[in-house]
Amino acid sequence: MKSHTRVVVIGGGVVGCSVLYHLTRLGWADVVLLERAELTAGSTWHAAGGMHTLNGDPNVAALQDYTIKLYAEIERDSGVSCGIHQTGCLYLAVSDREIDFFKGERSKARYLHLALDFISLEEAKRLNPLITTSDYRAAMFDPNDGHVDPSGVTNAYAQSARKSGAHIYRHAPVEAVTRLPSGEWNVRTPAGDIRCEYVVNAAGLWAREVGRLVGYELPIIPMEHQYIVTNDIPALSGLAREIPSAVDFDGAAYLRQERHGLLLGTYEQDCRHWAMEGTPRDFGQELLPPDLERIAAPLQRVMERMPALGEAGIKRIVNGGMVFAPDGNPVIGPLPGNPTAYVAAGVMAGFSQGGGVGLAVAHWIVHGEPGMDVFAMDIARFGDFASRAYVLEKTRENYRRRFVLPCPNEELQAARPLRMTPARDHLVASGALMGAAGGWEVPLWFADDPVRAAESPSFRRTSAFAAIREECRAVRERVGLWETSSYCKVRISGPGAAQWLDTIVANHVPPPARVALCPMLTPRGRILGDVSVTALAEDHLLLMGSPAAELLYLRWLHSLRPPAGITVTSATSRYCGISVSGPLSRDLVQSICADDLSDDAFPFLAAREVSVGLARALAIRISFTGELGYELYVSPDYHLHLYQRLIHAGRAFGVRHFGARALNSLRMEKGYGGWGREYTQDHTPVESGLMRFVRIAKPDFTGRQSILEQLASTPSRRLCLLAIDSTDPDPVGGEPVIYRGEAIARLTSAAYGHTVSRSLGLGYLPTSIDARAVDLEVELLGTRVGATVLAAAPYDPMSARLRG
Ligand SMILES: Cc1cc2nc3c(=O)[nH]c(=O)nc-3n(C[C@H](O)[C@H](O)[C@H](O)COP(=O)(O)OP(=O)(O)OC[C@H]3O[C@@H](n4cnc5c(N)ncnc54)[C@H](O)[C@@H]3O)c2cc1C
Repeated sequence: MKSHTRVVVIGGGVVGCSVLYHLTRLGWADVVLLERAELTAGSTWHAAGGMHTLNGDPNVAALQDYTIKLYAEIERDSGVSCGIHQTGCLYLAVSDREIDFFKGERSKARYLHLALDFISLEEAKRLNPLITTSDYRAAMFDPNDGHVDPSGVTNAYAQSARKSGAHIYRHAPVEAVTRLPSGEWNVRTPAGDIRCEYVVNAAGLWAREVGRLVGYELPIIPMEHQYIVTNDIPALSGLAREIPSAVDFDGAAYLRQERHGLLLGTYEQDCRHWAMEGTPRDFGQELLPPDLERIAAPLQRVMERMPALGEAGIKRIVNGGMVFAPDGNPVIGPLPGNPTAYVAAGVMAGFSQGGGVGLAVAHWIVHGEPGMDVFAMDIARFGDFASRAYVLEKTRENYRRRFVLPCPNEELQAARPLRMTPARDHLVASGALMGAAGGWEVPLWFADDPVRAAESPSFRRTSAFAAIREECRAVRERVGLWETSSYCKVRISGPGAAQWLDTIVANHVPPPARVALCPMLTPRGRILGDVSVTALAEDHLLLMGSPAAELLYLRWLHSLRPPAGITVTSATSRYCGISVSGPLSRDLVQSICADDLSDDAFPFLAAREVSVGLARALAIRISFTGELGYELYVSPDYHLHLYQRLIHAGRAFGVRHFGARALNSLRMEKGYGGWGREYTQDHTPVESGLMRFVRIAKPDFTGRQSILEQLASTPSRRLCLLAIDSTDPDPVGGEPVIYRGEAIARLTSAAYGHTVSRSLGLGYLPTSIDARAVDLEVELLGTRVGATVLAAAPYDPMSARLRG
C-alpha cells in the first residue's frame, strides 16, 4: 500500500467511488480509496438502483440530473456496464394536493431544462398496462429516469478513477484516523498506515463510526427499508419492451420491472431504525430479516391499483439498511472545526444523487469551495440542536413522509418544540402559528384567535392571507413586533479582532457603536454569507445572520485561522431579540427607554446599549421591513421583561405582532434579497446588487481578486425585482420566468406584497435581454401570468422611511 497520498476516501460504496472519480476528473490523480471489504459491501449492493430527477429543491434536482447524465459517460470511459435502463418514470397522483405539486414541479422543470411533463392517463396506462383502476387522476412522465445496476455503476466510477491514476485498496478497514503535528492525517489499516492531506468519510452504513474516529458525531442513522420482487407477471412476459418505473405517492411506493416481474418498495408508516447503537463491525453483505406485515398496508393499496401485482406472488423480499439524515438530504462538506476532514454520507438516494455529491465534494477539496449552492446538503446546516434524539425523531418523520408531497406553507412537527425563548408561550397565546428554523421556534403569522392559529397545507391562499395583510399594515402604518432571537450570532473578540475580520468581510468593519451589512465571500467571489456586523466595543464584534447559518459561519471563520488571542464563538443563545418596526417604533421604544433615541442621538445604523424598561438592552437601529426600526437584544433572563414592557407600552401605539411571512412580504416590497435565496454560492455580489456593500478599495479581503476579475466584464445575469400579475395562487419562489416561451430564470423568492397589492418576485435575469423593456411571464402551477421588471422597489424606493 502507498505510504502517502493527497486524499484518502474511506468507503467503496457508490458515493466513495464517485468522490474518487471526481477527484481524478479535477486533475488529482494521487488519491486513494480504502474499502473495508469489497466495493459495494454496504447499502450499495442491495439497492434497487432507481434513479430520478424529481426533487422539490431545484439545486438538488439539478445534481440528480447531473448524476443520471453521467452514467453513459462513466460507462464509456471505464468500459464497465452501468446496466442503464432508461425506461422513464411515471409519477401518479390521486389528490388535488399531489396534482398541484406536479404542476409546480412541471413549471420548475422548464427552467432546469428537465424533460418532466404531464401525460394523459390513457398514455400512462399504455406505458404501464398493469394499471387497471381509475384511482389515478394525473400522471407525469420523465423519460430520463429509470434504473441502473448498483454494482456496475460503483465499479464504473472505480475503474475510471483507477485509469486516471487513483489507487483502490480492498480489505483495508480503516481503524484509526489521527491528526499529525504537520496538519496531515495518518490513516491506519491492518495493511499499514497512509498519510494524506485530506480524508473523506464515505463509509455509508458505518459513517457514524468513521466520524467518531475524528471525534465527530454525525447526525445520521440507518433505517430499515424493504422492497419485494414478484414472480413473473404474464402481462410483462408478453411485452416486447420494459415498462417505465413508477411512483405512486399515495401508496408511498415505487416500482420498476425486474426481468418479467416487478420490484416494489414502500416507505411504510411503521418504520424502524436499525443499528441504533452502531453498525456492527462485522456486518457483511447481509440482509436484515424481512417483515412483510409492516409493509402490507401500502403494498395492498398499490395492488388494488395494479391487481396483476397481487396475483403474481412474491419471489423475494429485500430488507436493507439505508442511512437517513433528519431532513433526508445528504450530509457533505468539511467537518466544522476540521477543515481537511470531509464527509460524504447520509446519501439515501445514491443512484440519483451520488454523482452530484461526488462532484461537489471533489470540487470543495480541490478548489476550497463546492462551486455551487449545496447548503441543502451541507453538514453545517445541523448545529448542536441535532442531538441523537432529534435525529431519531426527524428521521422517523422523514422516512414516513418520503412520498408525501410537501406544500409551501407546511411546517413539520417532529422534534418540536425544541429551542424556545422565554417569550415563546406568550407569542403562542397571542395566536402565533410557529415554524422551526435552526431548531428554534419562530412565529410565522398570528391569528386573531389563538384557537384558529392553524393552516391546512396548500399551494394556494389560506386563512393566513388576511392575517398577514393586517400584520403588514400594522408595520407600515403603526408599529409591529417580531421576535429575532433565532438569528445566529457569532462573537469575535480579542486584540486585533476588527482588523482580522476586515480582511474577511467585503465591507468595512464598523467602528464601535455602529452596525454594517457585510457580505462574506468565497475565494472565488461567491456569496458565502450576508451578515450584519455590530461593533459592541473596540475589537468586540457581533456577527448576525440567518438562523440556519451559524455553523457555516463558525466553520468558515475558524478555517481562516483566527490569530492567537482572537476568539470566535457562538453567541446565539446568549442574546434573545425583539425587532420593533414601523413609523411609530421610535415613539414606542422611547416611551420605555431612558436614553435619547432621537435621530441625532441614535441615527440609522447606530448600535449601543440602552435602558429599556428595567433592563439593559443592545439596541441596533436597523430593519429588514423597510420601516424605521430597532432590534433590541437582551440575555434570555430579561427577554420576557422586554417583551412584556413593549407589549404593554405598545397598546397606546396600536402595536401588533408580525411573523416571518409578513416579514417576507415586507422585504420583497423593498426588493431586499435574503441569504439562502438570492445570496448563495451560486451568486456573486456583482450579479446580486450587493456591490454597494463591497469596498473594493480595501487593500485585501477574501474574494477581492475574483471580484476585480468579475468587474472586468458585464455579468451574464442580474438580480431583478418583478411585479407578477397573479391573484391566487401567489408565487412562493422556484417558479420559472418565461420570455418568448423559453424559461430564462427562476424566482429565487416571491411573496404577495400586501402594501402594494400585487405579487412580487426576485430572480436573476439574463443581461442579454433588456428585461425592463420586454413582456415576461411567470408560470404558477402551470398557468402563465404576466410579469414586469420593476426599475425600483415599489415601496419607498428612496428608503426615506427606513432612515426615519
Ligand atoms: C433496500 C434498499 C433499496 C434501495 N434502493 C435505492 C434506489 O432504488 N435508488 C437509490 O438511489 N438508492 C437506493 N437505496 C439507497 C442506496 O443504497 C444508498 O443511497 C447508497 O448505497 C449509499 O452508498 P454509500 O456509498 O454512501 O454507502 P455504502 O454503500 O454503505 O458504502 C459504504 C462503504 O464503506 C465501507 N466502509 C465502512 N467502514 C469502513 C472503514 N472503516 N474502512 C473502510 N471502508 C469502510 C463499507 O464496507 C461500504 O462498502 C436503497 C437502499 C436500500 C437499503
